[in-house]
Amino acid sequence: MADRDGKIWMDGEMVEWRDAKIHVLTHTLHYGCGAFEGVRAYNTVDGTAIFRLQDHTDRLFNSAKILRMQLPFSKEQVNEAQRAVVKANKLESCYLRPLTWIGSQKLGVSPRGNQIHLMVAAWAWGAYLGEEGMKRGIRVKTSSYTRHHVNITMTQAKAVSNYTNSIMANMEALDDGYDEALLLDASGFVSEGAGENVFVIKDGVVYTPDLSAGALNGITRNTTLHICKDLGIEVVQKRITRDEVYIADEAFFTGTAAEVTPIRELDRIEIGAGSRGPITEKIQSAFFDIVNGRNPKYAHWLTKV
Ligand code: PMP
Repeated sequence: MADRDGKIWMDGEMVEWRDAKIHVLTHTLHYGCGAFEGVRAYNTVDGTAIFRLQDHTDRLFNSAKILRMQLPFSKEQVNEAQRAVVKANKLESCYLRPLTWIGSQKLGVSPRGNQIHLMVAAWAWGAYLGEEGMKRGIRVKTSSYTRHHVNITMTQAKAVSNYTNSIMANMEALDDGYDEALLLDASGFVSEGAGENVFVIKDGVVYTPDLSAGALNGITRNTTLHICKDLGIEVVQKRITRDEVYIADEAFFTGTAAEVTPIRELDRIEIGAGSRGPITEKIQSAFFDIVNGRNPKYAHWLTKV
């Protein structure tokens, strides 16, 4: 990704894509303390707009707070940087990646004395789990890796280091011929996907793990809760077991990258009819109406670029 034309916002300045570099002695590269966001901009009926920008920026600041990192920019500057990056790269729709990291002034576990940096990049990125997966549903494997315990890493921070666990789970699932991993918490209850929140549907009721299972408080998860309320679908946040997923009527993942992706199989066991279920399809379609600016109720979630 490094060798291409474009602009990246780095510490307050727009720099050439190829010149957006950091030193090998960067603290975050060695010890993994940093935080990031994944945001999407859509080509809406009113032009390009960033979806739930303020919520993503708020979560970035919360992640930094949890990690005791003092960001040297205001939320307004971070919002503005994201709009500027979409514009500078002339993108109609894209994925945005703000990331904050600890600098290279000194090494050693203690990060004190290092500068805190921030960058924002953006690029075109289609369906994260594939176009076909969006229609047919994807095949998922229960990971042999346990999701973070809530007092080992901080699960409400979108912390760089949390993703080693996600990467291992995702690689294992892909190596075994699946599309994505589902991770269980330290007590064996369903937590989340490697980069997605998870929902199951049984007898018309939508279930999702409560956040004590160590899942990230996903913004798409929250959007889904709003959609279900609007559609008059009951949602219950509770502990969910692996076998509850096997016998669910439908299941789906949510995430900024994954959007609303149906799950058709877990551990080679078909979920429901083994395809995208009717309630999932309704939620998916309501989601795309919102992000594409076709639902005026949620116009305030779209920040024009
Ligand atoms: N869980 C994990 C581990 C993730 O990486 C993501 C993606 N950010 C999510 C859940 C979904 O969060 P969101 O809907 O805010 O993108």
